[in-house]
Amino acid sequence: MPLVNPMPMLEKARAEGFCVGAFNVVDYLSIEAVVEAAERKRAPVIIQTSSATIKRFGIENIVTMTRMAAAESTVPICLHLDHGTDVSVIKEAIEKGYSSVMIDASKLAFEENIAVSKEVVEAAHKAGLAVEGEIGLVAGVEDDIVVNAEDAIYTTPEEAIEFQARSGVDFLAAAIGTAHGFYKVAPKLNIDTLREIRVKTDFPLVVHGGTGLPTNIVMELVEAGGAKFNVSTQIKQTYIDSMYGYIQEKRDEYNILKVLDAAKQGLADMIAEYMTILGGEGKA
Ligand SMILES: [Zn+2]
Repeated sequence: MPLVNPMPMLEKARAEGFCVGAFNVVDYLSIEAVVEAAERKRAPVIIQTSSATIKRFGIENIVTMTRMAAAESTVPICLHLDHGTDVSVIKEAIEKGYSSVMIDASKLAFEENIAVSKEVVEAAHKAGLAVEGEIGLVAGVEDDIVVNAEDAIYTTPEEAIEFQARSGVDFLAAAIGTAHGFYKVAPKLNIDTLREIRVKTDFPLVVHGGTGLPTNIVMELVEAGGAKFNVSTQIKQTYIDSMYGYIQEKRDEYNILKVLDAAKQGLADMIAEYMTILGGEGKA
């Protein structure tokens, strides 16, 4: 199936009370793992890449790899640019085959964020893509975007409504206390704010910083109204741990294909489990 615009799956998630999992891939193996999990669970899915992965492989190669992996798929698969901060890179992704992009101008002042996001929305909509925006600041480290916990800014419902209306973004990352990377201390989440934004708005909301949250909290975020749920750090951890586990067990084997398969299976199992927790199973 060709890569799809994510709005139908996100609108469905919003309406039916589940989250679409959005997984940050780092190479072809992790793309295959996401597709395998989505097929296994019959779940719609978003494959996303950070700017670092784009720098490593180039936009065309990521698009080609994702199209290859999705070609035989029977579930909707979206290719999304996560945390785009450079408008020229975002425009390149739009031109070269991504089906969705994020403009993260959340470090700018509110009015500037609106102006930059609006520019991206115009380019993306012309090409039939959807756009994720962000207001407030999600704490943690995402590539070269570093936000200290004390600098994180929580989103208010009023800001969310005004920002979406004036920028035209299709779905919105709201900062509610989750953070990128591993949690060193339990995060102070503002789940009631997410619920309030969900009630007062009519567009899908995105939860960033999904790694490391206990299952009951993830389910609460789904229930409160998240429609897209991002998982990045867990991909890296499971990838490395699965490989390392296999190598430790079969130290003298030297069969690279088996090592790669162990990583892929570890990833696909972890991703499939997320899809069940997020309620996306059977929603394709
Ligand atoms: Zn994020």
